[in-house]
Amino acid sequence: MNRTLLSLVVPFYNEQESIAHFFPRVTAILDGLDGVDFEIVCVNDGSRDGTYQALVAAARGDARIRVIDLTRNFGKEAALTAGLDEAKGDIVIPFDADLQDPPELIPQMVAKWREGFDVVVARRVDRRSDTFMKRKSALLFYRFHNKLADVKIPENVGDFRLMSREVIEALKHLPESRRFMKGLFAWVGFRTAMVDYVREARSAGETSFSAWKLWNFALEGLTSFSTAPLRIWFYLGSTIALLSFAFACEIIIKTLVKGVAVPGYASLLVSILFMGGVQLIGIGIIGEYVGRIYIESKRRPVYLIRSCFQLDRTEAPSQDGCV
Ligand code: UDP
Ligand code: MG
Repeated sequence: MNRTLLSLVVPFYNEQESIAHFFPRVTAILDGLDGVDFEIVCVNDGSRDGTYQALVAAARGDARIRVIDLTRNFGKEAALTAGLDEAKGDIVIPFDADLQDPPELIPQMVAKWREGFDVVVARRVDRRSDTFMKRKSALLFYRFHNKLADVKIPENVGDFRLMSREVIEALKHLPESRRFMKGLFAWVGFRTAMVDYVREARSAGETSFSAWKLWNFALEGLTSFSTAPLRIWFYLGSTIALLSFAFACEIIIKTLVKGVAVPGYASLLVSILFMGGVQLIGIGIIGEYVGRIYIESKRRPVYLIRSCFQLDRTEAPSQDGCV
């Protein structure tokens, strides 16, 4: 029987405390899978603590662990992209280093894949471990995003999912350099199954996503997958123009009937300020998109690899990454 190779792709950013729990728990589960070999692709996303050393130490003890060291902190989406590019598996699973997603779910996901699904998405049925604000803002984001964008992102799913080789190849062919992975995962489609789970609290350390980072992440998602924010200005502008026209008519008629009256300082100021504000918001939104076009147009790579480590196989990265 052909054995399946499973790649677990894990981005690490300042996760030195998580590593001690991480490998024992994950390898125990993966070892228990029938007919499956595995590799763990660890991407060190420019950590400033001892994460890299700890990863290499783990890799020295197990040839199935690979360490990809990026040249600096490129952010989770880029680190994940690096890991997916490097993964060799027939099936690939992105996974968080903090064990918030239970690896115990992996056997179930593999079983679904064997039933013939290309993507098996893990859905959080219970987000009690997230703060109230995070739950509410996430809910709001998904609702808003899915109203505006053509590609719907399922609610309450993260990056934790199983993908077949075909899906990974499809993802690799998407050329954009600003990568909102959740959106890209949804965009490629394929036959998808769901499995449910309860999200746990972090095993150690702290989240690196502040409210500000999450807000920018949400903007990234919206502007990557919808142009609706650009289009509303036409309708808003038309409505205001129409109202102004009606107002102008009213003034003319009043002037004809009652003669010239000179009040109106307040209404003048309010309408000027209002219009100024509306225009600035419009320009700001156009700016968001122009900025993204600008960044995309540079065609810079999404990440840079400094070195790769795997037991007995340390090689300098070539143009195509590590081999
Ligand atoms: N991460 C990363 N680069 C970053 C920030 C985070 O590779 O710039 C990794 C982090 O090590 C973890 C995963 O992304 O494995 C999820 O991060 P975190 O747990 O902080 O996010 P949350 O679970 O709060 O959404
Ligand atoms: Mg986390």
